Amino acid sequence: MKNESCRLCAHGEAEVTLTIGRAPRNIQNLLRKEDLERDNAIKLEVRTCRRCGFVQIPPVLDDTYYDDYLMATTHSVQMQSYQQKQAADFVQRFELVGKKVLEAGCGDGNFLNHLKDAGAVVYGVEPSQRFREIALDRQHSVEEGYVTAERALRDGPFDGFVTRQVLEHVPEIHGFLTGIRRNLCDGAFGLIEVPSLEKALQDHRYYDFFTDHVNYFSLDTLRLALTLNGFEVLDAYQDMFDEYNVALVRAVNPPSLDGIQRTSSDLADDLRRFVLDQHEDGKKVAVWGAGGKGLSVLASAGIDDLDLLIDSDPHKHGRYTPVSHVLVQEPTPQSIREVDAIIITAMAYRNEIEAMLRGRYGFEGTIAVLGHRLEFAKDAL
Ligand SMILES: [Zn+2]
Repeated sequence: MKNESCRLCAHGEAEVTLTIGRAPRNIQNLLRKEDLERDNAIKLEVRTCRRCGFVQIPPVLDDTYYDDYLMATTHSVQMQSYQQKQAADFVQRFELVGKKVLEAGCGDGNFLNHLKDAGAVVYGVEPSQRFREIALDRQHSVEEGYVTAERALRDGPFDGFVTRQVLEHVPEIHGFLTGIRRNLCDGAFGLIEVPSLEKALQDHRYYDFFTDHVNYFSLDTLRLALTLNGFEVLDAYQDMFDEYNVALVRAVNPPSLDGIQRTSSDLADDLRRFVLDQHEDGKKVAVWGAGGKGLSVLASAGIDDLDLLIDSDPHKHGRYTPVSHVLVQEPTPQSIREVDAIIITAMAYRNEIEAMLRGRYGFEGTIAVLGHRLEFAKDAL
């Protein structure tokens, strides 16, 4: 069968790596006697992305599948104690007492109870009407439906979120996680829990693969999914006898280039003015460094009447800079003696170059370097 593109990284091909010949079409609904005649097994093909390693199956359930589901809620003492501790640890570790915490896919509100007991102010979102009604009966504030990339939730933004045993069901991984992210305060903390792929692999559990779960996260691919959607992963580990993979995250913003944009013209202005002032005083100006940084500043400053451009790399000598069209020359004691000021643009080597100018070349003129603005070396001027 043809390979499909990976749901997680979108670039790799997901090839069939496991075939289960006889699988139930879904595992939520047990059948009535009259349904038996129409029921038959399906072939389940599990795929692995050759590029990012994400394990997945194509969705076979229809879009309304979770509108009315009612998963058996656990009354297991072990599970209740696990969830209670998990909720308390999460609220305490991230100081969420009195803060707004969302559970995406909150089911019957059982975990919201634990979060509330731990001191959080809790909200839920849940597609299943039957589950929602139980959670509402428990006096929780629960919004209906699915989290999508565009959706603004009524009670947001939230200081924290939890989503447990949900992400493995969601074909739109990025839409779901982006949707959560957009309803959070900056720096909000989150807990994500999914079944562990590592456990399925370790125990050869072919029976862990079924149509309700379209995503099978390892700790690595869980980290990847979260990182791709605006979360910094603070911790990721197996829990509950290694059955679950859990990640703790913080919502982060992409780096801002606004500061660079604001000051980019300032440095260019400084350079242009410095060269102009020096020339007006009858002095000569050199630039040291014909690498990327040097070429960029010369181009953006619009300097084409530089007196000397030097670089240590012999491959550059005799060539001209783009845009500014300045000849690149070899540094020599004589050429350096003839200039009054030198602007160092090779920033990674600035200390070495400065020491060489003051030492080996005995240069006593002005030395300037690039900063937010043009900066002058201490022992100059
Ligand atoms: Zn992939």
